[in-house]
This record gives sequence, C-alpha cells and structure tokens, in this order.
Amino acid sequence: MKALRLQAWKTRPELVDLPEPEPGPGQVVVAIGGAGACHSDVHLMDEFEEGTLPWNPPFTLGHENAGWVHAIGEGVTGLEVGQPVAVYGPWGCGTCSRCQLGIEIYCENLQEAPIPGGGGGLGLDGGMAEYMLVPHSRLLLPLPEGLEPRKAAPLTDAGLTPYHAIRRSLPKLTPEATAVVIGVGGLGHMAVQILRAMTGSRIIAVDTREAALKLAESHGADLTFLSGESTAEEIRAATGGRGADVVLDFVGVDATLAMGAAAARQMGDLTIVGIGGGTLPVSFFSVPYEVSIQTTYWGTRPELAEVLALAARGLIASQTTEYPLSRAIEAYEAVKAGEVEGRAVVIPDARM
Ligand code: NAD
Ligand code: ZN
Ligand code: ZN
Repeated sequence: MKALRLQAWKTRPELVDLPEPEPGPGQVVVAIGGAGACHSDVHLMDEFEEGTLPWNPPFTLGHENAGWVHAIGEGVTGLEVGQPVAVYGPWGCGTCSRCQLGIEIYCENLQEAPIPGGGGGLGLDGGMAEYMLVPHSRLLLPLPEGLEPRKAAPLTDAGLTPYHAIRRSLPKLTPEATAVVIGVGGLGHMAVQILRAMTGSRIIAVDTREAALKLAESHGADLTFLSGESTAEEIRAATGGRGADVVLDFVGVDATLAMGAAAARQMGDLTIVGIGGGTLPVSFFSVPYEVSIQTTYWGTRPELAEVLALAARGLIASQTTEYPLSRAIEAYEAVKAGEVEGRAVVIPDARM
C-alpha cells in the first residue's frame, strides 16, 4: 500500500510502498477514509530533532484519522468489519489511573504504552496510508449515523483539542462573557463552532488572513479582527474596556501570547494551544490580576465521544479541503503556506 512517511527529522515526507498491516491479538486494522493534515506535523517535520520527543522517525504521518474496520485480531469483541470508526489518537497503556478515565494523553505507565508519549502518526504509523494498525479496540469510537469518516477525521484532533480547552474554561464562558479565538485554521474554525454550540458567550476571532476571518464569521463569530499590534486594544474596546474572559491562542508565538495577555479580563483564562514556540513573561504585574495561564494538550477519549455527538447532532462540522494520498505532500505545503480553509484531509486515491 502507499503511505506518506517521515523518514528522518528535518526532511520532507515521502510517499512510499509499505506492506499492508495485519492485526495481532487484540489489534484492529482500519481502512482509512480520511486523515487530517495538522499544523503540528509541519512543526514536526521542520523544527523537531533527535531528543525533542521520546520517539523518532521513520513512521507514517497522520494522527487525525477515521475510516472503516478492515480486519480484526484475535480476541477483539464489539467491532464488525465495515463499521465506520474514529481513531482516538493518543495511545496510553489503557490501565493506569489516567487511562482508566480515558485521559490517555497523560498515561502514567508509559513503558506499557504502544509508544511512550505518542500514537499513530506520532512515532508509530498513522493514517496517511490506505490502512492503519490500531493497537487496541478501545481506541476506536464507532461513528454516529450519518457522519462520514472523511468528515469525522478532523474531529479527532482539530475538534477534540479545542473541545478539551473550551471545556476547561466552561464556568467562565457565561452569556455575559467574551471568548477570543486567535488563529482560525484547522483547530480555530472548530473552536468557533464549539463555543457557539456549548456557550452563549460572544465570540471574537483574530487571524492574519481575511479568508480565515470570513470563515470564522460563517461559523458564528460575532466580531473579527486582523491580528496586529492594536488588536488587544480593539478587543478591550469591543468589551467595554473589560477584556476577554477567555482567550484561546491557537498560534502560540510571542506576539499572540502578548496579545492574549493584554486582551484578557481580570480573572480570565489565557489558554495556549498553538505550539508556535513563543514565551510570555509571567509575574504579578505582567498580566491582568488573577488571569490563569494554561496550556492544553489534545483531549480525552470520553471527550472525543462528546465531540462526535456534537457533530452527529449537526451542531459542529469540519470544513475540509480534500487531497488524494498521492498529493498528500501538497496538503502539508498548503497548511504551511496558510492556504487551507479549515482542515486539509488526505484520502486514499481509490476512495476520492
Ligand atoms: P492551521 O495552520 O490550520 O491554523 C493556524 C491559523 O493561525 C491560520 O489560520 C493562520 O493564518 C493563523 N495565524 C498564524 N499566525 C497568526 C498570528 N500571528 N495571529 C493570528 N493568527 C495567526 O494550524 P492548526 O492545525 O489549526 O494548528 C494550530 C496550532 O495548534 C499549531 O501550532 C499546532 O501545532 C497546534 N496544535 C496543538 C495541539 C495541542 O494539543 N495543544 C493540537 C493540535 C495542534
Ligand atoms: Zn494535531
Ligand atoms: Zn496509562
């Protein structure tokens, strides 16, 4: 089968031929219906090196996957061949106290995990291929009626990550509150929709691209601002001087972190999701009083079930541009160039 593989750090991925995976005991092979091209993969290819993470190339890219159960290993129950499924991406040990709650992102028994701190597309072979090996059936969530794999794939990261971040700030997201989404790309366009579906808060979207601001408006943003030096002041002015109760930064460079801190309301939340490599000086007087500054990473298995339910109810939907697997490299080039509206999704050529 064809697969898009990262062969070494700081190289372009290559489309190669690999043998089709076969499921061992307890494992499942998924026929891929769609694999999202996440900006994290661009960071991964361009910036990471030996020692950044607990694992290294080679591996097949694609950590945002959905498809159909293709082959079932010995001892697997509760799944049928042909059944549409989403793949929960972070793979823990499955039995430690975190994993029992579905918080596999923070597995505390990493030596028992399929790979420490990774998953399919992150150290192990992912979904930019015709088939993908999933090490345990608990990592597959049946797709609700009417949700196609190619539309569900982005929900497993571009949907799940903002959902997890927003859920953490829900008490502050009242109908009187304002939420700011910085960076309306793959994750940000889902964040706008999740805020709309889950809260009554006012939504302000910020991006450097007009097209992204239009996308934000079409998904329910109340106000949009081009990202620049005066954006924090504009946000403050638009909130009667108070500032934003919750700022979600999907970029994470120095400029957006400073903007988020300057735009936050006292007692607000500033959540760093983007891994742009920026830093923010934090001290008693450097940020508004009692602002909580937090990072968030991906999400939990139960949260993925909730995201799928939101989509099944028609309350959120990923906006996607589809690329055949044979042109997957172009999908990443487009992500890197900021040319994608919503999410780029890679689909095996035969299924396009
Ligand atoms: P994307 O490329 O689809 O979207 C990024 C958006 O940010 C684009 O619309 C771009 O125009 C905009 N942008 C860039 N610079 C900006 C600036 N200075 N001000 C305002 N907007 C700006 O990327 P994505 O796939 O949505 O990922 C977003 C970030 O989140 C990446 O850094 C990615 O690595 C990271 N990420 C983090 C997690 C996590 O768990 N924390 C999960 C997935 C992705
Ligand atoms: Zn990702
Ligand atoms: Zn665990």
